[in-house]
Amino acid sequence: MIGSSDKIKQVRRLCHQLCFASCVEEKRQGRHVELLRLRPHWSVLKRDEQMASIDRGEKVPFDISLPLPARDEREGSEAGVGLFWERFLCQQCGRCCYTPGAGLYLEKEDFDRIAERVGKKKLKTLCRYDKRLQAWVLRQPCPFYDKEKKGCTIYEIRPLTCTKYPLHPPLPEMPCNLAVDAFCPAARLLAKDTLGWWIICENNWAALLHKLARDQS
Ligand code: SF4
Ligand code: SF4
Repeated sequence: MIGSSDKIKQVRRLCHQLCFASCVEEKRQGRHVELLRLRPHWSVLKRDEQMASIDRGEKVPFDISLPLPARDEREGSEAGVGLFWERFLCQQCGRCCYTPGAGLYLEKEDFDRIAERVGKKKLKTLCRYDKRLQAWVLRQPCPFYDKEKKGCTIYEIRPLTCTKYPLHPPLPEMPCNLAVDAFCPAARLLAKDTLGWWIICENNWAALLHKLARDQS
């Protein structure tokens, strides 16, 4: 017998398989406005609480799940990522570049590409070698960030991780949804702006649960 949390997981997975294209379009067109008018939803009722918890990202590191489907191996499944980049407005604050941290993982291609520009020897002095990861890790704050010009000095050849930031791998508890680094102010803003979009997801989940229950009976 499937427990209710397993059922919800199953429904989210199914939803990701069946609704990813339509739900992105519904979100782009603002369908949540009509749904929110029709019934109460936590994104409205607990709005202040949610905003405060998103704002914690400025001080406490964590990732926020967005109501957008994460890309998977299927062709065309990048719709959610596409809508994320359409809506994401980087504030050019540079916090992701100049904040001290554990370092920035470089793919081998990143290392080779950047080494070609700055020289291998020089790049190694800006990195540390991580034996466990068997990769070069760029020190943070990033040596390529120009504080005066407020920008990246190797922008066109920046590491892959930087091209994806603030997108992070999906959270284990929400494996079908995009996750963003709450440390980024633009990501926090987007998370707040799209809070109401969860009603579209939940609507689809409810419809699928209903259908599953009907099929089982
Ligand atoms: S922290 Fe976010 S808003 Fe600031 S520069 Fe980085 S991506 Fe842009
Ligand atoms: S490489 Fe460029 S984009 Fe990446 S962290 Fe450094 S300054 Fe920022």
